[in-house]
Amino acid sequence: NLPLSVKIDLPNGISYEQPTGLFINGEFVKSRQNKTFEVLSPSTEEEITHVYEGREDDVNLAVDAAHKAFYSGKWSTIHPNQRAKAIYKLAELIENDLETVASIESLDNGKAIASARGDVSLVVSYLKSVAGYADKIDGRVIDTGNNYFTYTKREPLGVVGQIIPWNFPLLMWAWKVGPALAAGNTIVLKTAESTPLSALYVSKYVKEAGIPDGVLNIVSGFGKIVGNAITGHPKIKKIAFTGSTATGKAIMKSSADTLKKVTLELGGKSPNIVFNDADLKSTIQNILIGISYNSGEVCCAGTRLYVQEGIYDELLAELKTAIEAVKVGNPFEEDTFQGAQTSQNQLDKILSYVKIGKDEGARVVTGGKRLGDKGYFIQPTVFADVEETFRIVKEEIFGPVITVSKFSTVDEIVQKANDSDYGLAAGIHTTNLNTAIEVSNRLEAGTIWVNTYNDFDPQTPFGGFKHSGIGREMGAEALDNYTQVKAVRIKT
Ligand code: NAD
Repeated sequence: NLPLSVKIDLPNGISYEQPTGLFINGEFVKSRQNKTFEVLSPSTEEEITHVYEGREDDVNLAVDAAHKAFYSGKWSTIHPNQRAKAIYKLAELIENDLETVASIESLDNGKAIASARGDVSLVVSYLKSVAGYADKIDGRVIDTGNNYFTYTKREPLGVVGQIIPWNFPLLMWAWKVGPALAAGNTIVLKTAESTPLSALYVSKYVKEAGIPDGVLNIVSGFGKIVGNAITGHPKIKKIAFTGSTATGKAIMKSSADTLKKVTLELGGKSPNIVFNDADLKSTIQNILIGISYNSGEVCCAGTRLYVQEGIYDELLAELKTAIEAVKVGNPFEEDTFQGAQTSQNQLDKILSYVKIGKDEGARVVTGGKRLGDKGYFIQPTVFADVEETFRIVKEEIFGPVITVSKFSTVDEIVQKANDSDYGLAAGIHTTNLNTAIEVSNRLEAGTIWVNTYNDFDPQTPFGGFKHSGIGREMGAEALDNYTQVKAVRIKT
């Protein structure tokens, strides 16, 4: 008997109404089987609320609504300017409510409030940017001789399924729904089971923005149930997923029977490389952002730090001081840099990797311990004296844990950096432009940051090489994932 909306008092004094239902065909509804699940605050381990839990029959309803909305033509075939206007309006509605949205994100995910504001600002700027692409999706006229007139157009795919993770709940929602909407598709999206609140909250703005009923549907629930129902549904034409590489592979397999298009944004173990001539002060800041930002729960976190031998000792000493000064704790305190890990599972996973690192013979330079006994807080952790074969160097930990090792030449660092199944991102710190360009060219990664890290921009595409994914989000490239080319050949 959970009401469809509950009042929540946030720790910073803001009170708001949190929708708890599934968002199907323009309204919040109870799940068919009336099931709910608990949502916890990672910083207090206390219950925030329950929300309705979708099952296969709810996914079917959502897909029917999305299918009907697509074929009604009220979104897919209207003038793209109108889609642009609605997406832009949605961005403005979120922007006007930024403090509440950011606070919901902090409460639900445990991330520092300053970080959450950054996420929501990027949500807004991304939606505004992608709105501008809606009327720039064009085709070609092809010269196939005078007896023919041949042209191509890029059409939407139909109903798309989107499955998002818990580390950037609303940002991942925006990166998924933005381009899908701009291209004229309709959507069934599943949020992560631990962080359903922000996407449900902003759904209240969908109608006001001018997006027709059924175009954007949200089904909260679990991967094995809702996720599976989405990946197996015959009317869904494409799956866009962000999360672990293991789940990405499972999704690709289960999408094969209905031959869905699949784009995946998966894990990483990104190298962050510091040359002798780097600016030490800004490099230390970038290393911190690479590892502690968002509690290290970032797919492109700079978790393998490689430092050239001439600067190694000085950098390691400075890094230790800087990391020990990072404020970890209550996400609602303005100067907190690192909030809570998102779940008990994540905390346990990170602590188990700290033990693995010690057992492998790595030296803990600083950190490695849980902080307090309520809330999932952990010290940012630096391991030195690691070997390339160690599991803590090879495997994605998804927490604020960094390994540090030394290198001497460009050839050596390129080989070490590329010796990974992953290829999501990499960092290079140098004041030598030739080094920056040469190493950028030789690294196998979808994003290279030079003298910066975890630095996102709506117009810049993001996605992985190798096991880090398929397809690109943001930038003009994102639209390619949501359109298909039709060639029209007319005999004159
Ligand atoms: P996950 O990949 O299993 O979950 C991500 C999303 O996929 C969630 O919405 C989940 O419900 C859904 N899902 C799970 N199984 C599914 C299935 N069989 N079919 C369809 N959807 C399914 O991630 P997790 O279990 O929450 O976290 C495990 C590890 O994944 C983390 O420790 C971290 O290493 C990694 N991870 C990476 C990212 C990233 O951005 N690359 C994000 C989250 C987690």
